Amino acid sequence: MSEHKKILEYDVLVVGGGIAGGECALNLANLGFRVLLVEKDLTIGGKMIMLSKVFPTLDCSACITTPKVSEIARHPNITIFTGSEAKKVTKLAEHNFEAVVVKQPRYVNVEDCTGCQLCEEACPVSVTDQYQYGLVGRKAAYIPFSIASPRAAAIDIENCTLCGACERVCPTNCIDFTQTEEEYLVKVRSVVVATGFNLFDPLKIPRYGYGKFKNVITSMQMERQLAPTRPFNTILRPGDGKMPDNIAYVLCTGSRDKSVGNPICSQVCCMYSIKQAQLLMGALPMADVTIYYLHIRAFGKGFNEFYAQAQGMGVEFVKGKIGKITEKDNGNLILRYEDIEEGKVKEAEHDMVVLSVGLLANPEISSSFTNQKLELDPFNFVQQTDMLANPAKTSIDGVFVAGTASAPMDIPDSILSGGAASAQTISYLKQAMEK
Ligand SMILES: Cc1cc2nc3c(=O)[nH]c(=O)nc-3n(C[C@H](O)[C@H](O)[C@H](O)COP(=O)(O)OP(=O)(O)OC[C@H]3O[C@@H](n4cnc5c(N)ncnc54)[C@H](O)[C@@H]3O)c2cc1C
Ligand code: SF4
Ligand code: SF4
Repeated sequence: MSEHKKILEYDVLVVGGGIAGGECALNLANLGFRVLLVEKDLTIGGKMIMLSKVFPTLDCSACITTPKVSEIARHPNITIFTGSEAKKVTKLAEHNFEAVVVKQPRYVNVEDCTGCQLCEEACPVSVTDQYQYGLVGRKAAYIPFSIASPRAAAIDIENCTLCGACERVCPTNCIDFTQTEEEYLVKVRSVVVATGFNLFDPLKIPRYGYGKFKNVITSMQMERQLAPTRPFNTILRPGDGKMPDNIAYVLCTGSRDKSVGNPICSQVCCMYSIKQAQLLMGALPMADVTIYYLHIRAFGKGFNEFYAQAQGMGVEFVKGKIGKITEKDNGNLILRYEDIEEGKVKEAEHDMVVLSVGLLANPEISSSFTNQKLELDPFNFVQQTDMLANPAKTSIDGVFVAGTASAPMDIPDSILSGGAASAQTISYLKQAMEK
């Protein structure tokens, strides 16, 4: 049940605390604007904080994200609400918006939590860890991952048995089962939508065997295995814990495919797969990596050279369309594919398959706008109504879009887009000040 609504006032409401929303909030805050950053998840940093390294430089993703995330978290002009959503956004007049923000109970007082993890150790309940994309388990009392921001515990109340073991060991008594949902009425002068993307669900392509064959995983699961906050100390295939030595990538899983309702290119899958292939060659020097592709889209600065580097390292590229994946008794996988260059149907055996899943729109936020419509494009991304001249502009004056909420894009473009959204927001706010 919601508590009585508390009223808060800021200059800008930024919805979504990924790299695009974070960059936008930071720019606004550095120029003196007061920002409320509302993030649905328990941590800010979005997908970027979960990645291994980034293409084409192979810089550590966490090492780039964490200083930025801590700058955002410590900025005096930024207030962060995690575990929260903007439920209703109403434009009352130009430069005058009202939003209802709902904060879910975390059952832990974040300010007092030291992150000691004693509650995790004591909790008897194990469930699937969503931050490791199902590769391992976590407890019902848990810290999302070691570099989460805030690095504080939360109680997964749906799975909690209320046994009280965590409460008994907590040295600061910060676990509080009496917390309830809180509702805030937030008055702002402008809104930025930076709600990011959803990953394509490979269960929608049953012939690839995801969910049925344990050694068919997604690229995000491989990303977690390669990341510094990884679940295991090496790369393991989930079926039997064996280190794989012949890994296949299936590009365009859920992208450029009308049959699954997503005809557009996801922009990053070719490059992140090439990146992972190079990282795998470092992690498993004896392993073979084959990338099955339709076209390689290496269009950005340094991308084609990065592709050539992978070829030079021995990554095999096969222009081939995968028809079906089947499993052998030993857990190995048979890929039946059309070799496009030779015009022949062939079969190949691999001991692990990575599906390079696409980036889909996350259109949910559009339904939060009450009296004016936040228009979406034909693919359900937020419509950029003046894409060339004002890329952050949306169908509602005073509401701007940043990052992959508007289209699939990589990290540098998401940061640029966050920067553009902050500049356009400031220009909109200045109009009001000059009146
Ligand atoms: C497997 C994989 C590997 C990748 N590797 C690379 C790489 O090496 N290099 C590179 O440049 N790019 C890479 N990318 C792309 C990169 O992840 C994106 O460019 C980047 O994460 C986009 O940032 P964003 O802030 O737009 O979105 P997101 O990271 O999706 O962040 C959006 C945030 O908004 C929050 N949110 C969503 N809805 C709501 C709501 N209603 N209310 C409040 N908050 C909400 C989400 O919880 C999330 O924290 C990779 C992508 C994948 C899938
Ligand atoms: S009360 Fe809930 S979260 Fe705490 S230890 Fe028991 S099951 Fe785990
Ligand atoms: S909730 Fe208590 S026991 Fe758990 S990490 Fe925080 S301080 Fe430690």
